[in-house]
Amino acid sequence: VQAGSTDQALRARARGVIPGGMYGHMSMEPMPPSYPQFMARGEGPRLWDVDGREYVDFMCGWGTIVLGRQHQAVDAAVASQLSNGDCLNGPGAVMVDLAELLVDTIPHADWSMFAKNGTDATTMSVTIARAATGRRRVLMANGAYHGAAPWCTPGPSGVLPEDRAFIAKFEYNDVDSLRAAVAEAGDDLAAIIVSPVRQDNRRDQELAQPEFAREVRDLATASGAVLILDDVRCGFRLDVGGSWEPLGVRPDLTAWSKAIANGHPLAAVTGIDSLAEAASSIYTTGSFWFAPTAMAAAITTITLLRDTDAMAHTHRMAELMREGLAEQARRHGLSIRQSGPAAMPLVLFDGDADLSVVAGWADECVKRGVYLHPWHNWFYTASHQPEDIAWALERTDEAFAATAARQAAS
Ligand code: PMP
Repeated sequence: VQAGSTDQALRARARGVIPGGMYGHMSMEPMPPSYPQFMARGEGPRLWDVDGREYVDFMCGWGTIVLGRQHQAVDAAVASQLSNGDCLNGPGAVMVDLAELLVDTIPHADWSMFAKNGTDATTMSVTIARAATGRRRVLMANGAYHGAAPWCTPGPSGVLPEDRAFIAKFEYNDVDSLRAAVAEAGDDLAAIIVSPVRQDNRRDQELAQPEFAREVRDLATASGAVLILDDVRCGFRLDVGGSWEPLGVRPDLTAWSKAIANGHPLAAVTGIDSLAEAASSIYTTGSFWFAPTAMAAAITTITLLRDTDAMAHTHRMAELMREGLAEQARRHGLSIRQSGPAAMPLVLFDGDADLSVVAGWADECVKRGVYLHPWHNWFYTASHQPEDIAWALERTDEAFAATAARQAAS
């Protein structure tokens, strides 16, 4: 089976008018053949492609959807705002409401600024750190993704060595390598930027070891550098106060986006008081950054995540799936590893260095209507229900059977 005929026809047209036919993380070029490129519709945890094929979705807009698609309360807040217009000549009152909500909800946050994409938020954070310290060097982990700007994009085409001349690397969860990188940067260290979980593509996900997180904090403090937590992917999924709150490690700045407004376009930077002056000194802006609809969506999303059991429910659904997959793999004699937080997991197979086995399994899943990813972490939402998990597990069971049969034949 391949992607459907409508999808194939759109891809052919796209190749004529869109460079490469598609670009960025949503290009299905590197994916197994059954993955559709073009989508038609989503509702709750379900998704339909342009050929009308239905999926239970475990990618959830690559983490932008946290409560579920077409969420009534969120979309009502958006519709209500939209009835008054969106691009006005200044932000709406909701900008202040949202900033107050973030300051009330996130323990380290004394202020917040808004933008659209995760890259905006991480780049602003780095700029604020450099403005505050008057220093140049920024440390980030090997393999970490912080966005698609020249200083951090994993794709080097068109990027100058000068764009990242002051970016140096350390190994995630490796205190010695972090210490060495901090020592090397010396008194020119402006910031350490780190994600709350190691979620590099194509390898097991790693939770931050508490002693590593504490060392990041302590080294930043001792060297007078800014600790930036890149909570773009994990934010509002693991802990509403920030993903290192359970570890008791508070950053100076946090970059947020993705789930913050349940699929509506918004990013934020939150920070501590002592960085407010530097934050107000940088010139940063964007045509769409102040639009109130996405801010109204964020207020509803964050309030629901804070005041309901949405996150706990999501976690239960993810655990249900995790247990089901583990049982199925065992029964089919396949050895899998499920890493990362349950609600943002990655499933890989043992002895599959080139990831061909997981790619084949993911292809079998997608063919049957279970949309997941072979080498990027998945996402769950509060809209996933036990019946969705059961529906998905019936199909993953068949996919494991097909994978086991292929292995037996080879
Ligand atoms: N940081 C992290 C941890 C991310 O996962 C992403 C997006 N995958 C980004 C930054 C960049 O966000 P955006 O694609 O919205 O610019």
